[in-house]
Amino acid sequence: MRAVAVPALSDNYIWLLHDEDSGHTAVVDPGDGEAALNGAAARGWTIDQVLITHWHPDHTAGIAAVVAATGAKVWGPEAERAKFAGLDHGLADGDRVQVGSAEAEVWHVPGHTLGHIAYILPGHALVGDTLFAGGCGRLFEGTPEQMHASLQRLRTLPDETIVYPAHEYTLSNYRFLAAEAPGDAAVARRLAEVAALREAGQPTVPTSMAEEKASNLFLRAPDAAEFARLRAAKDSFR
Ligand SMILES: [Zn+2]
Repeated sequence: MRAVAVPALSDNYIWLLHDEDSGHTAVVDPGDGEAALNGAAARGWTIDQVLITHWHPDHTAGIAAVVAATGAKVWGPEAERAKFAGLDHGLADGDRVQVGSAEAEVWHVPGHTLGHIAYILPGHALVGDTLFAGGCGRLFEGTPEQMHASLQRLRTLPDETIVYPAHEYTLSNYRFLAAEAPGDAAVARRLAEVAALREAGQPTVPTSMAEEKASNLFLRAPDAAEFARLRAAKDSFR
């Protein structure tokens, strides 16, 4: 499976998943339909499946345009069905979705929103706004306990798992982590790498579970209380 990031809106990434064998292409969280369609067309791909992680408009506003142009069917969280238009197949924890020749398992990962789901494919994790490179989503709906549990669950994925976040927040995340943990070698190393990538105009995603386990303090938080302290500190960090 090939995964390509299509930059959209101010700092979103729309992920295109292309299965070379079947020719199938899925789009994850099309916040901008035109960007998603152009990204696929530029590679000679036709989108036939839409996967949604959560209801926020910067992840769902382009569903109608993609469906109108391609007839693709839409999968997403059943718990958030009332919050966005166009959902064909509602999903809950433990459900399985065929994505090309691979099968994704659905994990309910509440915290950023209450119905947020992640798509876990063999070796690949589409995590929406739950886990970012060096960070995690803001708690718009859920509690620190919920988000801590969601991150700890993602932490059980194998090190080699490639992680696809939905935003380019990495540099500001590692500036925060470096201020939080000035002596942390893994954080310092990653901050330098990420700063160089951004200076060169390159994306910092995808990331890997190995990298996040090593340098993402939100994933390393030992309990919900420490996670809550860290999340609150990040919310007010400038
Ligand atoms: Zn969101």
